[in-house]
Amino acid sequence: MKGKTEKINRRGFTQEGNWYRGNLHCHTNQSDGVLSPAEAAKLYRKNGYQFLCISDHERYADYREELDREDFILLPGVESSVNLVKAGDKPLTASEEHPLVSRDVWMEERQGLQAVLKTHHIHGILGTEEMVQNARKPAYARREDLPVAMYPQKWDGLAAAQRQIDEFRSRGCLVMYNHPLWSKVRPEEYLDLQGVWAVEIYNHSTVLDSGLGVDTRDWDAILETGRQIYGVASDDNHNTRPIPDSCGGWVVVKARELTHEAIVQSLLAGNFYASSGPQIYDWGIRDGVAYVDCSPSERVNFICGGPVNSGITVLKGQEGYLTEEERFAHREFLEHAEYRLSGMETYIRVECVDRNGKMAWSNAIMLGEEGGACLEDGAADRR
Ligand SMILES: [Zn+2]
Ligand SMILES: [Zn+2]
Repeated sequence: MKGKTEKINRRGFTQEGNWYRGNLHCHTNQSDGVLSPAEAAKLYRKNGYQFLCISDHERYADYREELDREDFILLPGVESSVNLVKAGDKPLTASEEHPLVSRDVWMEERQGLQAVLKTHHIHGILGTEEMVQNARKPAYARREDLPVAMYPQKWDGLAAAQRQIDEFRSRGCLVMYNHPLWSKVRPEEYLDLQGVWAVEIYNHSTVLDSGLGVDTRDWDAILETGRQIYGVASDDNHNTRPIPDSCGGWVVVKARELTHEAIVQSLLAGNFYASSGPQIYDWGIRDGVAYVDCSPSERVNFICGGPVNSGITVLKGQEGYLTEEERFAHREFLEHAEYRLSGMETYIRVECVDRNGKMAWSNAIMLGEEGGACLEDGAADRR
């Protein structure tokens, strides 16, 4: 097994392309945020972003015509809720058999609920031209309110989420699963969902409001099954809080140009990384050695699927047995780290952590049985 790893060459990103930074999850005054869509676009453009998905609750919107600029584009999208609710005194319009209600009815009836017990927040982003052409139903209109699923007391959580995912896909959207920890769903209610492009592993707004915004445990649980799924960091900003919740989590995409088509193609290919601070300039596997080039980091984690003790944390100075305090005092930071594969890993991904605890997350390179079929150099270039 071991000799074979030397033949493994995989790129984490395509060689060609430019880097574009974007926030895929943003609320405005079209749902429960405060900024207008134009103000939100202005804020992100001013802060060095090149793209933004305005994803208001149950309200799909395409602002490209009004807000696209040469150096900044909008990705049409929406965040849809599928709710398990505890009813109050008033009878509800929805039932387990017929859970869909209009956005207006949901807004009204939610006031009378005792609680939303669990929720799936499922994110639809307009896909490529090919996805829209091949979709079973027409794409959403430029402004379209979506019905909301409301299950009183009882639901089959997995099936309820799958229905909304299938609906998004039938409209030509790619689908992200948002903030699982905050949503209070159990792993069995979402880990086996099919047709999900990415899971939100860092949600800046919920990091600030409840400490439930970071979840890589479930991402790894999915990757351990051999299923590729990408990891996204985003803001989920509402701009309603005293602490600003914009510009804390983002993705950096490598794409041939700044167009909706090129950005979405790169998102679908996993040709991006997620971050709350550090930068990843390059990463991959060269002759069986995983490597990363990054902005100055306090530690680098190579996270691997496979048996216990797969993967490693790399700390600068660990060769010299420096204590944590000494390393910090010497300001010894890593801009490059490596890990030699043992041959037992089923996938590998990398995390770079800076001195403030901010992180960058690569997507995973799959190395299991299926991955083994295309381990030759250049396979990643097709992405
Ligand atoms: Zn949400
Ligand atoms: Zn949201």
